[in-house]
Amino acid sequence: MKLNNVDFETYFRNYPNKEGYFGKYGGSYIPENLQNAMNEITEAYFTICQSRQFIAELRRIRKEFQGRPTPVSHLERLSNKLGSVQLYVKREDLNHTGAHKLNHCMGEVLLAKYMGKKKVIAETGAGQHGVAMATAAAYFGMECDIYMGSVDIKKQAPNVARMKILGANVVEVTHGLATLKEAVDSAFEAYAKEYKDAIYCIGSVVGPHPFPMMVRDFQHVVGEEAREQFIEMTGHLPDAIVACVGGGSNAAGFFSGFLNDPVDIYGIEPLGRGTALGDHAASLQYGTEGVMHGFNSIMLKDENGDPAPVYSVASGLDYPSSGPEHAFLHDLGRVKYDVINDDDTIDAFFALSRMEGIIPAIESAHAVAYGIKLAERMDHGSVLINLSGRGDKDMDYIIEKYGIR
Ligand SMILES: *Cc1c(COP(=O)(O)O)cnc(C)c1O
Repeated sequence: MKLNNVDFETYFRNYPNKEGYFGKYGGSYIPENLQNAMNEITEAYFTICQSRQFIAELRRIRKEFQGRPTPVSHLERLSNKLGSVQLYVKREDLNHTGAHKLNHCMGEVLLAKYMGKKKVIAETGAGQHGVAMATAAAYFGMECDIYMGSVDIKKQAPNVARMKILGANVVEVTHGLATLKEAVDSAFEAYAKEYKDAIYCIGSVVGPHPFPMMVRDFQHVVGEEAREQFIEMTGHLPDAIVACVGGGSNAAGFFSGFLNDPVDIYGIEPLGRGTALGDHAASLQYGTEGVMHGFNSIMLKDENGDPAPVYSVASGLDYPSSGPEHAFLHDLGRVKYDVINDDDTIDAFFALSRMEGIIPAIESAHAVAYGIKLAERMDHGSVLINLSGRGDKDMDYIIEKYGIR
């Protein structure tokens, strides 16, 4: 398939280019001392991760530890209620730790082990990335420093406890607003000092090159499995696929299995409470080009051009930008990016729970809500939704805010 001179048959060979660009997006906008560290990771990625030994070890870990392949499930009752379009979900909620994040964390920490590193450094906001990193570090016997704002530490007590039980060192960040942004700054600072012994692991397809590429490639397993399983189940490709987009890692991996297929692809951002700046986190929908956290992409800016405050009912989606590859696929028109608000998301959360026996993460419920909308709009065909995670982490919030419907 070709679109605006981009050939999707050879896409992965050409995007990103050597400097980490997807068209004009991506790259690496960081201080020189960190650039040396990034170059080391890039080089290691291209040698170690292509080796037969690395590939075989990661494949074994996915099978024996993570429980992959995760299944594809047919949402039979929900589909029948909606009409004739058939809905399916790829079950990343059944991946170990209950979400897709472990896919790239295991890859990154395995790479760290091959590079001879002793420690992994990361930041976390809601704590999901921190828990996945702590899990991977425990598995490989690595030290693990997770930087977290003191405000988030108070809000996310269960995830802080999980990280500590897994043996991670949770480093409290107290300056500024003491949330994710400050945690990112502190993690980068620590990494600049410790990069000889440590590796920094980012939480999504964001940050400087090589992270958007590396995280996508480690998440590719989701799209690859889903495509094969769907064809085996139904005998054909889905007509449309849907994933939620925060930083964009679950979507990038899922989409990467279908880019060269005649399949409509939808990336769904959170519209939150509405279209006013500060009420949503739909960066691709309402943002403009800019640089943040070391990469060029489309982002939401305040009046000074800094990253704007964002909001979503799903804490994993409240990021003021998205990975550079999503900005590229957006401009190309290969992926259609659209939005879903909080109310439709919560309706879908309860619908999937009641009618299918699957409690989704609130992030994933955005994709389910859009899948339901698509099913109502199309008059036949099939839609495959990436269910990025399970909703156990969201129980307290749902009960407090919405009650049990
Ligand atoms: C973190 C998270 C997301 C959002 O991150 P992406 O990088 O956009 O995938 C989505 N779903 C779940 C369950 C998450 O934990």
